Amino acid sequence: MIIEKMSDDKLLKSVLLEVKKEKDQLHIVLLHLKEIYRRRLFTEYNCRTLNEYCVEELGYTRGEAYYRVTAMKLMANSDQIEKAIQKGELSLTAAVVASDYLTKQSDKSVAKKEEVISKIVGVPISKAREILSTPPSRPSYSPKSEVLPKLKVSKKILKLLNELQDLTGEDQTKLLEVALEDKLKQVKKCELKAIRRPSPIQGTRSRYISQVIKRKIRRRAGYTCEHVSMHRGRCTETRNLEFDHYIIPYSKGGKNTLENLRLVCKNHNTRQFILDFGAKSLEKICLKISFS
Ligand SMILES: [Zn+2]
Repeated sequence: MIIEKMSDDKLLKSVLLEVKKEKDQLHIVLLHLKEIYRRRLFTEYNCRTLNEYCVEELGYTRGEAYYRVTAMKLMANSDQIEKAIQKGELSLTAAVVASDYLTKQSDKSVAKKEEVISKIVGVPISKAREILSTPPSRPSYSPKSEVLPKLKVSKKILKLLNELQDLTGEDQTKLLEVALEDKLKQVKKCELKAIRRPSPIQGTRSRYISQVIKRKIRRRAGYTCEHVSMHRGRCTETRNLEFDHYIIPYSKGGKNTLENLRLVCKNHNTRQFILDFGAKSLEKICLKISFS
């Protein structure tokens, strides 16, 4: 029926119906996102995170993606929170406000999440902010933090750097550079020794992968993840690369050979595990997939 021709009564009834459909739809979208995360399907688009997938493949703005992924994570382990979202009693904005509040709490349990959400269910957003005493929330998505990982510097490293600087008067960055170069030389020296005397463990039932094999794989891979995703081809990730028993998984007898191993990023290693053993197996290992 044409909206302009609806009676007042019909128009008011109709809008209630449409809003309900809209809320139902949001819940369904969040359920899809949850399952995509569970299967790490976003890695098949070479996306590092579900947020990135929502922006690049689903066309959400970064803010929209952040709000949806935050709400999804919040409802992922709680039927109570999921129901609140499904009924439209917890908006995306309220979910983000609650999530901001929860990240500052030491108690990360589901019970705590449910307790916090129960305080703001069905409450106007301004009131919810007041209850949780948090300033208006803005998406904390930062593309920079995904591109440039922060280097964690321990107190010990700082102490060593300060001592060295005191003794040499050299710049701390330079000192770190020299230390890393020395370590690299040391590692290369060990590899050369290993090439001359191959490890007897190679090719046997051990998770140990010799430095020689690792080096050959890294070179073959061009120091980049070797996964070829369904939709975006070869992954270009160069950080946090791991060795994956690809053709035959280690637990199924796969050997530490050049042919059986490949270099993959953490995301694609996890995705391969899910393909080999299922998402449930991953959940068993991690107790539950971490949505926090
Ligand atoms: Zn990858």
